[in-house]
Amino acid sequence: MVDIASQGSMIESLIKLAKEYLDDLNEDRVRDAFNFAKNAHEGQLRKDGSPYISHPVSAAEILTQLHADEDSLIACLLHDVPEDTDITIDEIKAQFGESVSFLVEGITKLSKVHYRNDMAARQIESLKKLFLHSAKDPRIILIKLADRLHNMSTIESLPKPEKRERIARETLEIFVPIANLLGIWQLKYPLEDACFKVLHPEDYARISEQVKESQAERSELIKESINKVKEVLYKHDIHVISILGRRKNLYSIFRKMKRSRKSFNQIYDLIALRVIVDNVSACYRTLGAIHQSFTPKMGRLKDYIAIPKSNGYQSIHTTIFGIKGTLTEIQIRTMDMHLENEFGIAAHYFYRAEQEVRQDKVKEKVLKKYEWVQKILALQRNVQGNDRFIKHLKLDIFEDRIFVFTPRGDVIDLPRGATAIDFTYHIHSDLALRAVDCNINGERKAITTPLKSGDVVRINTSEEAEGPEVKWLDMAKTNLARSKIKEFLKERDKTELIMAAETLLQRKLEYFTDRAHIELSKDEKIYLLQAFHLDSWESLLINIGDGSLDVHELMAKLFDYEQGNSHLNEGITQLAFCVEVENKVGILGRICNVISMLGVNIMKVESLNTAKNVILKLWVEIENYEQFEIILREILKLKGVLDVKKDTKKAL
Ligand code: MN
Repeated sequence: MVDIASQGSMIESLIKLAKEYLDDLNEDRVRDAFNFAKNAHEGQLRKDGSPYISHPVSAAEILTQLHADEDSLIACLLHDVPEDTDITIDEIKAQFGESVSFLVEGITKLSKVHYRNDMAARQIESLKKLFLHSAKDPRIILIKLADRLHNMSTIESLPKPEKRERIARETLEIFVPIANLLGIWQLKYPLEDACFKVLHPEDYARISEQVKESQAERSELIKESINKVKEVLYKHDIHVISILGRRKNLYSIFRKMKRSRKSFNQIYDLIALRVIVDNVSACYRTLGAIHQSFTPKMGRLKDYIAIPKSNGYQSIHTTIFGIKGTLTEIQIRTMDMHLENEFGIAAHYFYRAEQEVRQDKVKEKVLKKYEWVQKILALQRNVQGNDRFIKHLKLDIFEDRIFVFTPRGDVIDLPRGATAIDFTYHIHSDLALRAVDCNINGERKAITTPLKSGDVVRINTSEEAEGPEVKWLDMAKTNLARSKIKEFLKERDKTELIMAAETLLQRKLEYFTDRAHIELSKDEKIYLLQAFHLDSWESLLINIGDGSLDVHELMAKLFDYEQGNSHLNEGITQLAFCVEVENKVGILGRICNVISMLGVNIMKVESLNTAKNVILKLWVEIENYEQFEIILREILKLKGVLDVKKDTKKAL
């Protein structure tokens, strides 16, 4: 048991660590956060019997190694409060402000990332993306990694071996690659070694013993080798930015032993150095100089500068007989290559930063392991730069994907704009046959509702469900869903298809409230048949019904036709539609905002209160049919919007 006095010293030692690099640390704010968290977790114990508060404090201490800023440290102290206690995010916001509560909320959301032991590689890939995606601020990831590292280092107190193994595997498959991707070696290596210890306890014990035995001798050897190489390059008049000795962590030694089927001594005998020089021609001159001064080992020269690896990796590798005949592997590269190789995505940020700041100074600094993390932390104070970084992250990793949860917490990876229909098909096509509607974050919604990242979706089914409808095609985004729906519809008999198509077409036509009649004229029908190279109206309806003709395309054509015949408003058509919303302040503003963001004029708005909700009728001026469809979709995504309907009478 830890007594009150030692809990007090716990926070003082954290403050001391933080003050080493944060001159303007607000100590009282950190102490307040500590007391807040301590009270919230009062009575809770860790599995090893220590008071719960020891965990967030230790995680925050890990963060000080990365020189995390004050808000990150405070958020870390509070990180388990909303998850494990009755205290809400709002209370944290009231006491510690917006930016801390934003971080804490982000960490709480990440705890939804759900992992199972038997996950396929594809699902793990989605989980990784989800992880990066839901962390809107890189500091959230840093805190989460520190949290995980502390949990891993105390994992022995978990009684069940299966649970230990699951957590270790999850760490190795999700958290380690993320630390790697972001280049946070400081956290990656200890995480990896902690997993190694759980998953292969005997190998771990053996290798760590062997490393310990050879430690002292090796560090001396590395130091001498670096000096010797420096001397050689100096003689050849080659400017060196840096020479780094590489030390492998236990897990990578283990992996290499397994992969190459070599013994520990065969692998660990090797010394590895990295030489960083000014430009490509200096790389080749370095190689020449080294080969002139040491004997190279045959068959070990690889020129990944001339022929980069498929992942873009560039460097020249050679192995020489170095000091005392020790095999020494040398990697020669420029700073740009080094950054790209070591920091991956973060390097993109550095490139840009470098172009703007004094080149060499920044380069030299970046070599320190966690320098880039500090840069990101510093970026938080610079909104413009941060946007750029996030944009890069998005471009490179997220593309246009959203990540949605099943009620069990499995993550489904879908394209942006996907609806609950797509979700249904990604779970199972049979589910779609019985689907009626869905619950999104606990709220009942139509199956056609567009989804956004983080939504928890449950599909409601009924044995009486009639299966996929033509209008689903209208709202399905993925090829999988679309082709399955089409397949299903083709099976239905023709009369049903025609009826379904007529209903759908009717519904679409009703959006054109300025039309005198909903029936299409003979001229219009002929125009459409010609446009789609069909010979009868019946076959056109069947084509719509079975999904081979997209009703959107038909509407777009019709729209063009009408505009061609209209002499009044060239290029502009007025449409009206109704939106059913919850009776809440600000909702009309949000709707109007969405519409004007799309560059569409709003002509008139009428509002009508019903017993429970409000119906808004909007008249807009649109230039093409597509624009109208987009408006409807975007409005449906807004919080508080229940439905978008054709006209007032129907809506009531
Ligand atoms: Mn935690």
